[in-house]
Amino acid sequence: MSKFWTKAVREANPYIPGEQINQPNLLKLNTNENPYPPSPKTIEAIKEATGEKLRLYPSPTMDSLRDAIGDNFNLKRENVFVGNGSDEVLAFSFMAFFERGSTIKYPSITYSFYPVYANIFEVLVDEVPLENDFSINPENFFDAPGGVIFPNPNAPTSLYLELEAIELILKNNPDNIVIVDEAYVDFAKSSAASLIDQYDNLLIIQTLSKSRALAGLRVGFALGQADLIEALIRMKDSFNSYPVDRLALAGAEAAIRDVSYFKEVTEKIINTREWTVKEMTKLGFDVLPTQANFIFTKHAKYNGEKLYEQLKKANILVRHFKTKPIDEYLRITIGTDDEMKRFIDYLKEIN
Ligand SMILES: *Cc1c(COP(=O)(O)O)cnc(C)c1O
Repeated sequence: MSKFWTKAVREANPYIPGEQINQPNLLKLNTNENPYPPSPKTIEAIKEATGEKLRLYPSPTMDSLRDAIGDNFNLKRENVFVGNGSDEVLAFSFMAFFERGSTIKYPSITYSFYPVYANIFEVLVDEVPLENDFSINPENFFDAPGGVIFPNPNAPTSLYLELEAIELILKNNPDNIVIVDEAYVDFAKSSAASLIDQYDNLLIIQTLSKSRALAGLRVGFALGQADLIEALIRMKDSFNSYPVDRLALAGAEAAIRDVSYFKEVTEKIINTREWTVKEMTKLGFDVLPTQANFIFTKHAKYNGEKLYEQLKKANILVRHFKTKPIDEYLRITIGTDDEMKRFIDYLKEIN
């Protein structure tokens, strides 16, 4: 604290990301990163973009990447906004669509960046309780004049909300924005992107950090009808005209265009996830029905925090949240087959 701090700095309540520990033999299952490398075409494209041209600013309109993303979702460039990671896209969305002093709705258990943004952008929050099984009851999100935001699948619960339920939320908020954060949707049944033509109040946010193995590149995007995208562009251009650099633009476009690699990696992770859930269930763990690249689980015999500590001592890093009612749970990222086998073997050892 210093006398130079403004009220905004004093009252900021920054997000705490998962630990990034670098040590040999660490099994890192704590930040939902992809265990596989990015597409070789991505690396190639970044290498190609690394050169003399770096003296030039990147494209402020990012047309080429927006076209690639548009093609991928059967949408147009006008329906795509790109930012420096989806966290930044979320920040622009809070700025663009949530009026200062209004009250927004999000689930009581959800991505812990939302309260951080609500605080910094001065919007109030009506936290919507989840059902006992942690599922979202769409009715609780009807008539939300300040707007709605939730991840699908939700984090850290891993639960997926069916598109029919999302449509109910959209239909019951005709004059309010509904933001669906699809960070994990590539590991789930389907994206709500197909609904964009029908709903002018729907904004979808996705990231290349999880399913496309590019957490280090920092690229995220939003999909929506053209006037919503225009709002985000107005915010971006009032803040930073070039949030995505040349290397990231090149790498991201190659990643989006390499559909077969993306499908192969995503399928592998889903298969490993199903195996992991089966093995953990056999060991007596209660695993929530996941459609993400992580599981959310507890065990009647173990205290969540103690098991987290014990795993950490064994060089296995998972995520534990101290807040009730999820403090008995661990969030565990799905790694490779070998990594998950090592994890399960350790659980068998201590069980
Ligand atoms: C990982 C994650 C993000 C952020 O992704 P970046 O693009 O890496 O900033 C956003 N929302 C949720 C729910 C996430 O889990």
